[in-house]
Amino acid sequence: MASGGSSPDVAIIGAGILGTSAAAFLTKAGASVLLADGVAIGAGASGRNSGAIQHPFDPVLARLYHRTIELYGDLTEATSSGGGGFRMPPEPAGVLLLSQTPGAVETILAGVEAEAPELSPAVLEGAILEAAEPILAPGVSACRLSTGYPVPPAGATSAYASLAGQRGASIRLGNRAALWVEDRTVRGIVVNGEHVAAGSVLVAGGPWSPAIVSPSGGWQPIVPIWGVNVGVELPARPRHVLEEAGVEHLAHSPLTRGDADESSFESAFSLVTVGRTSTLGSTFLPLEPDRDRLAPELKRRGSAFVPSLASSRIQSTRLCARPQSRDRRPLLGAVAGVDGLFIAAGHGQWGISTGPASAELVVDVILGRTSVPPELDPGRFGVPAIGEAG
Ligand SMILES: Cc1cc2nc3c(=O)[nH]c(=O)nc-3n(C[C@H](O)[C@H](O)[C@H](O)COP(=O)(O)OP(=O)(O)OC[C@H]3O[C@@H](n4cnc5c(N)ncnc54)[C@H](O)[C@@H]3O)c2cc1C
Repeated sequence: MASGGSSPDVAIIGAGILGTSAAAFLTKAGASVLLADGVAIGAGASGRNSGAIQHPFDPVLARLYHRTIELYGDLTEATSSGGGGFRMPPEPAGVLLLSQTPGAVETILAGVEAEAPELSPAVLEGAILEAAEPILAPGVSACRLSTGYPVPPAGATSAYASLAGQRGASIRLGNRAALWVEDRTVRGIVVNGEHVAAGSVLVAGGPWSPAIVSPSGGWQPIVPIWGVNVGVELPARPRHVLEEAGVEHLAHSPLTRGDADESSFESAFSLVTVGRTSTLGSTFLPLEPDRDRLAPELKRRGSAFVPSLASSRIQSTRLCARPQSRDRRPLLGAVAGVDGLFIAAGHGQWGISTGPASAELVVDVILGRTSVPPELDPGRFGVPAIGEAG
């Protein structure tokens, strides 16, 4: 792979966690890279998520999670000097999966013990739970899991972008990019009317990835699931990552309702705390909602688990979309039917927890070092109809 010429070896569309970490790994391997984002670094969910790195409750994704933890350790080392660095917490804070339904956490315990015993699940109730997490409402039970590293939501994405820049990646922000394809071979990308030749193109456009690959709309393996998050400051800081039991499955349920009025919308409680700010989440909606209308109801629902939320002041609201693939697993590797075109997208609610290992895998595919397992291969969704721009 020739490096150093005016045409990059790889052009990447999308500077979220997937695009920025891929840029960092490619430049480390000596490839020349152009990283293009239509808005900014971390403009999508990678800059606005809840900020919990945690086990994704899926054995295929769990491998990506464990490798991502290692990569975040490397990122911490690589960016420790100077400002804007990323810091991976040395130990997980622990996730408490919460329920007010009798027997629910025992069912979760049995499931996790069978599928992910490395999470050391344990039921906490009554006085033991009150001592472990005093801010919870009476009557709530918990299953504690040994995962959940709270981090600033945009931290890893910004740090990977800085690292890629230091390693020579060229970064272009503010103009949407399209594919430049001729005769089912990728020639590069088109940005702001300019054709930029590239040896390969990696699409890392989150929920917009199918529209980049197939502008006709004929290929839709990924859909947006919109989430509203609310920033609050609580009088006492939660010690754990808190989540309503069932949140791990909510993004997977068929969503038929597109509307989102103030009182009836799909949500699950979560609370992730970094420093003094807690991020309260979140909705799971197929259409983009009005975040300021839904935020007070999220706070009301959350107060059933953490009563002090009721009187907390809303400091900020964030809106972003999970790139949810149809089978809950990301699309990683070559796009079938187009030479030189690759994709890394479709991580749903686990992109911060599994993104860097996914990017590493795709980079190894681009560099001809490995192949992807069939359950992650984009070819499982068929051959897209490609827009032949240029
Ligand atoms: C409310 C919420 C909370 C979440 N919390 C967590 C969490 O706690 N832990 C976790 O692991 N995951 C979490 N996630 C999921 C995680 O944020 C996503 O899976 C991840 O950020 C997706 O990263 P990405 O790089 O694929 O896409 P994105 O972050 O969406 O990045 C895609 C980028 O592509 C750019 N783009 C799109 N089209 C074009 C184009 N044509 N040209 C140029 N640029 C383009 C966009 O501007 C954007 O910057 C959460 C998601 C939501 C919505």
